[in-house]
Amino acid sequence: RTDSVHEKTVDLASDHFPNVLAMQLEDLGHYDILIIGAGLSGTVLADLYARKHGKKVLIIERRPHIGGNCFDFREEETDILVNLYGAHLFHTGKEDVWKYVHRFSEWTPYEHRVVGRVDGKLVPIPVNIDTVNALLGEEIYSEDAMDAWLTHERRNSPVGEVDVSTAKNSREVGMGRVGERLYNKLFKEYTKKQWNVYPEELGPVVLSRIPVRNDWDDRYFPNDKHQALPADGYTRWFEEALDHPNIRVFTSTDYFESLKLHGFAKLKFEKTFFTGQIDQYFRNIKGSKLKPLQYRSIKFETIVRDEPSVSQPAFVVNFPQFRDGNHTRTAEYKHMYHQDSQSSILIREYSTDIVDDAEPYYPFPTKENEEHFEQYRELAKSEETQHNVHFVGRLANYKYFNMDDAIQNALDLYVKIEGRKRLDAAL
Ligand code: UDP
Repeated sequence: RTDSVHEKTVDLASDHFPNVLAMQLEDLGHYDILIIGAGLSGTVLADLYARKHGKKVLIIERRPHIGGNCFDFREEETDILVNLYGAHLFHTGKEDVWKYVHRFSEWTPYEHRVVGRVDGKLVPIPVNIDTVNALLGEEIYSEDAMDAWLTHERRNSPVGEVDVSTAKNSREVGMGRVGERLYNKLFKEYTKKQWNVYPEELGPVVLSRIPVRNDWDDRYFPNDKHQALPADGYTRWFEEALDHPNIRVFTSTDYFESLKLHGFAKLKFEKTFFTGQIDQYFRNIKGSKLKPLQYRSIKFETIVRDEPSVSQPAFVVNFPQFRDGNHTRTAEYKHMYHQDSQSSILIREYSTDIVDDAEPYYPFPTKENEEHFEQYRELAKSEETQHNVHFVGRLANYKYFNMDDAIQNALDLYVKIEGRKRLDAAL
């Protein structure tokens, strides 16, 4: 940082919500379908039922805006489009999902790249040939040599050559992919910062997200055919999807609070789709005595730099080692959509427990938590049969879904209820 660069910390969450429209009971007419949550799952189902079945859909959303964690907006001072809840990069190999997302906007191809600051150097993540050469002083210049190097590292690691697809925990996955030395540099401490436990305590799903390359491919999602951003941002995509005379959205409206109002509680719906935390549904409404489920949250620190150039080499820089601070990564939004501005916005992420009103970003995938979730799932099954309440999305399924998984989950539920033919006709 030079003296001429002006830098300040700002609070983004203050006044950027154009759509605030809390529920007015007196305007409530008849609705066929109730959806709790205006994120991806709720929006997909609202669209399909309103447009393809002519149903009247009521969506209520606790936050002051639609779009769930995908919500983005243009920061006024800098005119830079930012995600309020962390960088969201769409990537998918699922053809139905790819087709579906085009219903509401064009998509701009965008291949995400991440570099990690490790041992004071900036290296590609996931691991590729350049990562190994830079961090371990190797001189690998072919895919065959990289394969041989990886095999050697894996064999010499404490977990040996494991079959990653049947690994018991994330340590086995990480070491099974890149061996012990890179595991220690890239995954061990980052995971502790992110989850407050080491990878051996987390299910394989966490480190299975990070592939390894035997070539020079430095894309973060090398295995997904489609990688793109909605041409005018995520929020525009949601606005388009929800813009229909059969859909009514109330933001800043808490479902559990609404149920305390007699006028709301007595409304009857053909179907309800609940996309919030499944444990809260049963604990708050049904008086379940099951323990709450565990989640992780993120605290964001936003820095505006008064400088036209970018200050980091990639959209996201990861900080996998304790020595570089407690934050896990920093996103510099000018890189996303290659935006032009006289300033730059950087958002640093610190992982936190759920305290006070912290948002539940991540289900906590330990074996114990997953078993615990199964108990809620049993309750959910009977709620579905008896009352036509369906649980859909990341929080309701307690699964580490990516955006495309969340859309797929909503489409799968739709197919389960309405049949594949209806989806084919809709796509
Ligand atoms: N991870 C890591 N080092 C990295 C990047 C990721 O150890 O440089 C691990 C970490 O446990 C993290 C997980 O891989 O929680 C998944 O990373 P991803 O970037 O997919 O996380 P998300 O974007 O979902 O927060």
